[in-house]
Order: sequence, then C-alpha cells, then structure tokens
Amino acid sequence: MSYTEEVYAKVVEKNPGEAEFQQAVSEVLDSLKTVIDANETEYRKMALLERLVEPERIISFRIPWVDDQGQVQVNKGYRVQFNSAIGPYKGGLRFHPSVNQSILKFLGFEQIFKNSLTGLPIGGGKGGSDFDPKGKSDGEVMRFCQSFMTEFCKYLGPNQDVPAGDIGVGGREIGYLYGQYKRITGRYEGVLTGKGLTYGGSLIRTQATGYGLVYLLNEMLEHHKYSIKDKTIVVSGSGNVAIYAVEKASQLGGKVVAMSDSNGYVYDPNGINLDVVKDIKEVRRGRIKEYVEKVPQATYTEGKGIWSVPCDIALPCATQNELTLEDAKKLKENKCFAVAEGANMPTTLDATEFIQENGMLFLPGKAANAGGVATSALEMTQNSMRLSWTAEEVDQKLHQIMKDIFVKCEDASRRYGLEGNYVAGANIAGFEKVVDAMKAQGIV
Ligand code: NDP
Repeated sequence: MSYTEEVYAKVVEKNPGEAEFQQAVSEVLDSLKTVIDANETEYRKMALLERLVEPERIISFRIPWVDDQGQVQVNKGYRVQFNSAIGPYKGGLRFHPSVNQSILKFLGFEQIFKNSLTGLPIGGGKGGSDFDPKGKSDGEVMRFCQSFMTEFCKYLGPNQDVPAGDIGVGGREIGYLYGQYKRITGRYEGVLTGKGLTYGGSLIRTQATGYGLVYLLNEMLEHHKYSIKDKTIVVSGSGNVAIYAVEKASQLGGKVVAMSDSNGYVYDPNGINLDVVKDIKEVRRGRIKEYVEKVPQATYTEGKGIWSVPCDIALPCATQNELTLEDAKKLKENKCFAVAEGANMPTTLDATEFIQENGMLFLPGKAANAGGVATSALEMTQNSMRLSWTAEEVDQKLHQIMKDIFVKCEDASRRYGLEGNYVAGANIAGFEKVVDAMKAQGIV
C-alpha cells in the first residue's frame, strides 16, 4: 500500500461516519500522490500526513438560547482549529441545520490549502452550528449569536483564531458576534472578518468571493484562449458568493441565465436581473421563486435540476456535493466547457473526474473561492494598521491575488506533468508551503 493509501485507510478507520471529511481527504491525497511518493521516506519518518489530517484542536460546545415564545432552545457549536503552521486559524462560521463535525472538518481541511494558496499568513480552521437562522427573528438571531460567542470567545484572538462568515452567517450575524466579543473581553480588535464598514470591516469583502471566482475563471479562460464575453452562464445558489459572481460575470460581458436556492431555480432567457435578486435575498430574505413575480419572461422550477439548463460555463455556488455525475453528464451533453467552483466541494468526486476526463476546464473551490478568505486577511491587515483602504485598492489587491493563484496552480500542475489539472495544481501549490512550514517548526 502506498503512503497516501495507508493514511487514507487510517482516516476512514479513525473518523467513522464522517463521509464529507473522508471525501475531502481522499481528493487531496489522491492529487498529491506524485509529490508524496517522491518524498515518501522523509514524510513517513516525520508522520507528516498523519499530522496533516488530524486537527490541532476541535472545540465543541452547548449553545442555549431563548426563542421569542420564551422557550429555551439548545444548539451545538463547534470550532475546528485544523492547522496553524503558516498563521492564525482562519475560516468561516456556518450556521445551517446540516452542520456537524464531519462537514466542519472537511471545510477546515480544505481551508488549510486554500489559505496557503492566497500567499497570505493564515492557517486553516472552520466552525459553526446546527442553528438555522432561516425564519428566525432578528432578536432570536441576536440571542443565539450572543450565546455562541459567550463560549467561543475563549478560543479567539487576532493572533490566534479569526473567523469570518459562511452559509447562514452574513453581516447581521457577524455584527452580533462581534458586539458580544467586545462586551465580554473589553477589547476592540480584529477578531472577526466580514465586519460592517462602520466598525472595522473592509470594502469589497462582501463581493470578494464572487468577484475572485470570476477573476480566476477569467485567468483560466484567457490562458486557454477563451473569454467570458457573450458566454451563457449558470450559477447555482443566490447567496453571497452567487450574487457577486453574477455581478462580476455580467460586468465582464457574460450572460447569467439561471440561479437557485434550496427550493428550486429560476431561468431567465434575457439574463438574470441582479437588482431583483438582491432585493429578494439581501433586503427581504425571501425565496428565489419570487423572481418570476417581478420578471414575467422568467420561469421557476421547483427542486434540483439547475444543471440541465444549457450553458457554456457552470458556477456551482451553493453547497457541497450539489453537482453530481448525472449533472456533469448533462452539462457535457449541453456543450458546457468550463466549471468553476464558487462553493466548497460542490462537485462530487465522480463528477469532477468525469469533467476532467471529458476535456472540460475545471477550477476547484480551494483556488476559485479563495478570494473571500484572501480579502478577510486584507481586512485583518487593515485592522492591525488601523486604517482603511479604498474599494479600488482592495479590489486591485484581490485581483492580483487571484492572478497569482492561477500562476501557482498552473505552475505546480506543469512541474508534476499534470498540465491543466488545476485540482492537482491547487493542492500541490497549497501543500508545498504548509509542509515547508511544518517541517521547519519541528514535531508539533
Ligand atoms: P449563503 O448562505 O449566502 O448562500 C448559500 C446559498 O446556497 C443560498 O442560496 C442557499 O439557499 C443555497 N444552499 C445552501 N444549502 C443548500 C442545499 N443544501 N441545497 C441547495 N442549495 C443550498 O452562503 P455563501 O454564499 O456565503 O456560501 C456558499 C458556498 O460558498 C458555501 O459552500 C461556502 O462554504 C462557500 N464559500 C463562501 C465564502 C464566503 O465568503 N461567503 C468563501 C468561500 C467559500 P437557501 O437560502 O434556500 O438555503
């Protein structure tokens, strides 16, 4: 058995029932096999992979809170502090009923390599709760966030662990979390990112993941002599990442014809009117089906199926494992030629293989959505310097970071004879820096 196979077998044995975590480890180890085989003796001796797949720490805690009816509710809270070799733990908080330890470990593991790829000094972490903010009043969300932070603040610090938002955690939640952190600790410091602009947030952070995705997509397309202009694009989701991916893709001349939420998708042959979507999602916190009430030529379809809409480029921006092998086949049949992941691991392993084997271009989430965490790190820098950059400055830095990420992925894939395989390229480039730092810091 090779070293990677051995370590993967141990991960399965030691993390039973954690399907998402096992899937993420399998994908990363598979694509690192060439690099690891070349250094097998050294890595084995220092148990490098065994250390890499084991989180440095997992904190799990109870979150009691009182709902509007006076009923006490209890949720689970977690923080996976996965790897701090290259900087303080950094990664979002997710509030969604599906949250469990496996999902947060998969996200935290991926985050290590993503953060490394940005070139900025940030380690990997992820956290969250099975709390569902959907349908809750502002008061309920606030009381929940306050209870979450009352326990969580013990493990945070600007040089220790700096979370951001993720699914279900946007500006409102970050505000409540920050307020409680400050109240308990008495410290006004950059301990969360994605903050509001009046209390230490960075311009462009809201747009960063979606914009970054399209910047990287653009780099890849240009490298392969394509362009976004006049391409038909389908974007799943209608949350933070999806909305700003649509905005940037449209600015670059692409035509986005479909978006979704967890209930269904809308198809608009004239191109999605983003103002309508922003009003539904950012202002009224409504459902995507309301789009057809405002835009008569659009149609709404209940359920999954967004990937059956013909397109040139597919941008999955909702959640993990939302694009299956069947979906990938449908995309191919409809002549889609590029898939770039805005969400984390939205494409199943077999779908990813199908896409790559069938000559479609593919950008993995850990490279393609790294603009969010990169801009979070820029927010940390501004907080430390006690100043704010202009939107143009931040956008220009984000754009450059995404260009650099493409060069790193392209270069790493080429060095190992895997040209054009950006899954391998991203994993190898991210891995090399982390491993260097781990080796230098001894057995810790
Ligand atoms: P949001 O909560 O803003 O939006 C998520 C969107 O995905 C919503 O439209 C939601 O629909 C949909 N969705 C969520 N779960 C499901 C599901 N099980 N099935 C179908 N649709 C679903 O989250 P973000 O936009 O912030 O995050 C989206 C993805 O991008 C996640 O994978 C996240 O980890 C990743 N990401 C986010 C970053 C960020 O900066 N925000 C950075 C890097 C990655 P509904 O409203 O119906 O639930």
